[in-house]
Amino acid sequence: MRHIAIIGSGPAGYYTAEAAQKQWGDDVRVDIFDCLPVPYGLIRFGVAPDHQSIKGVYRRYETTSLADNVRFVGNVMVGRDVTIGELQEMYDAVVLATGAPHDRKAGIAGEDLANVFGSATFVGWYNGHPNFAALDPDVSGRNAVVIGNGNVALDVVRILAKTRAEFHGSDIVNHAIDLLDTSGIGKITVLGRRGPHQIAMTPKELGELGHLERASPRVDPADLPPESEDAALDPGQRKSVTLLRGFAAIPDADRAGRTIDVEFDFFAAPKVILGSDRATGVEVERTRLENGRAVGTGETYTIPADLVVICIGYQTSPIPDVPFDERAGRFANEEGRIRPGLYCVGWARRGPTGTIGTNRPDGFAVIEKIAGDIGEGAGKAGGEGFDRLAAERGLPVMGFDDWRRIDEAEIKRAREGAPREKFTTIEDMIAAAQKE
Ligand code: NAP
Repeated sequence: MRHIAIIGSGPAGYYTAEAAQKQWGDDVRVDIFDCLPVPYGLIRFGVAPDHQSIKGVYRRYETTSLADNVRFVGNVMVGRDVTIGELQEMYDAVVLATGAPHDRKAGIAGEDLANVFGSATFVGWYNGHPNFAALDPDVSGRNAVVIGNGNVALDVVRILAKTRAEFHGSDIVNHAIDLLDTSGIGKITVLGRRGPHQIAMTPKELGELGHLERASPRVDPADLPPESEDAALDPGQRKSVTLLRGFAAIPDADRAGRTIDVEFDFFAAPKVILGSDRATGVEVERTRLENGRAVGTGETYTIPADLVVICIGYQTSPIPDVPFDERAGRFANEEGRIRPGLYCVGWARRGPTGTIGTNRPDGFAVIEKIAGDIGEGAGKAGGEGFDRLAAERGLPVMGFDDWRRIDEAEIKRAREGAPREKFTTIEDMIAAAQKE
């Protein structure tokens, strides 16, 4: 029998569990740990609440969890409640699937002012993550600035721009939808330090900006390279740039009645976030491209900003005694192996890139590596060993059945048209699980 511990119950964790089931059938036992009482990580807390079809992938993970040889071990913080060393003594392989839950810093002055948020924080707020649910951003001002040209920037723009009616069918939490209802935002500037050809936005997501009820995207035609140069782009990127060209061509008459301008400001690198205690503006330097890199031109200007959300990527949280690559913001590893018996997968292995589906081959590859390393298993204690340790330490472990009760309670208390209303504190989650 092989015993595998997976740390993190997001896509990377669940695909790894699925791969272990496929590899060994009944000859493996998998425990999936999570620091929260609820599973699915990025699916629950990262994917935008108005992208329910993407969130639907959780059903696949549920199937994995319902098998006899996979357990969900929730509400256990690895590194605090149990160490990696202890887990390695009990399991043949420990796989870190902890994602990249922290914001990469822009490294500019003013980043710590009030009403300036990294995307992990801001996304966590509207998705009801217990660490960020109390954020209470001030959305009463007119000007919002979103830094970055990736899909997360697009998510944040959409959430700031949508009306209550447009959130129908989403699971945006009540505290966010209620606050956004009072929003005074009239302009959202999206800052890209490079140009339209260099955006990291995918066409489906970018296209959604063209169909919003009260918001309209604006692109300055002068920022667009000659159309003939689009031919060199890969097909997906070409589609995105074509969408930007469409936004640049929207006639003013078509903007009538729209109350929010979403303005793309390309070749614009943020230099300083201005303000004495809270954000009032962003000082930006005009850039030009040199060998694909943004180079400052020395020309600066200021954009008013009451709210700033910095969406420039994420990094993994270090865990005591696990080698960490500071520069790359992930665990130091060789194709997923950190050291014998300790592995990483997904964003914790390769950094925050790719789609949810990218984690599937990742999970299968790491299990193949583990299979080569651990053979038939070393007769370790596995989950029974962990259960003994948890009982000794009085850890309030939450299992998959507890999650199913939380799930049921969240579905029951959903506002009309929403699939669920999430509990946003660990205490409330536990209380819901314990209710008869
Ligand atoms: P991302 O795709 O890496 O985009 C980050 C953006 O930030 C880039 O435009 C980058 O510009 C910019 N940037 C980085 N450092 C900067 C700085 N110091 N100043 C100004 N701009 C800076 O990251 P993400 O948007 O966080 O997304 C993470 C991953 O999740 C991606 O793979 C994304 O596609 C995926 N995702 C997918 C969906 C979806 O499919 N619906 C939704 C959300 C996220 P440069 O290119 O110049 O570096």
